[in-house]
Amino acid sequence: PEALESHGPARVIALCNQKGGVGKTTTTISLAGALAEYGRTVLLVDFDPQGALSAGMGIQSHDVPTIYDAMIGREKDIRQTIQPSAIAGIHVIPANIDLSAAEVHLVSEVARENILAGLLRPVLDDYDVVLIDCQPSLGLLTVNALTAAHGVLIPLECEFFALRGVALLVDTINKVKERLNPALQVDGIVATMYDARTLHAREVLERVVDGFGDTVLDTVIGRTVKFPDASVAGTPITEFAPQHASAHTYRELARELISRGAIA
Ligand code: ADP
Ligand code: MG
Repeated sequence: PEALESHGPARVIALCNQKGGVGKTTTTISLAGALAEYGRTVLLVDFDPQGALSAGMGIQSHDVPTIYDAMIGREKDIRQTIQPSAIAGIHVIPANIDLSAAEVHLVSEVARENILAGLLRPVLDDYDVVLIDCQPSLGLLTVNALTAAHGVLIPLECEFFALRGVALLVDTINKVKERLNPALQVDGIVATMYDARTLHAREVLERVVDGFGDTVLDTVIGRTVKFPDASVAGTPITEFAPQHASAHTYRELARELISRGAIA
């Protein structure tokens, strides 16, 4: 892949699903790994107090300025919160458990939904893509992510009850679009943890495609134990096991998002 000479302004994509354990963080990290291989510069924003993205990128998120410090105005310069990672082309704004206090802290702020958008604006020119790893809720932090974003990518676990939650998420996206961010788009639903050997997973995938049509991306992420291994190693699957099928699948996801225009 040919490296690009100049970058930005970045397209901002929020990875959202209010259900936990559906592959948001894994998809954020793995997609970043693939995009970096294709010469894109990526800023990852850990927007979950669990800090799984920070850990999964090998970043110690204690005793460093985090997105929380920027959100509450304690850190005035967003650049002070940006950490390099072991992968060239990927930077990270980390989070830790402090972020769990943000919703309470921000509730009385003016324009509280626009804070993340305002923080990211000055650095958009430095990157091709900003990926925001949301927490599993539809609260104020996720609304901030959706307000800061151009697009939403919805990781969806191939499991029956997963379908119910998507309708609620789409409602929230539509409200944010109406009231806060008219340009917001759904970039796609990406099926995760797909096990082709089970009839159940195949049926769920069929129902998702029936219900959401073209919004469902062609790329389907299979279930494999390589992902937990990569997160323990603190690096994207594309770096941890470059020839593993799942690394190739995330490269395919990157190419599909580029060909759909979600990423330049
Ligand atoms: P979320 O961010 O939505 O809570 P994660 O990405 O943290 O979800 O994934 C939850 C758990 O499932 C993690 O332990 C992760 O390593 C694992 N995992 C993620 N994607 C897959 C997959 N395709 N196959 C198997 N395990 C996966
Ligand atoms: Mg997560």
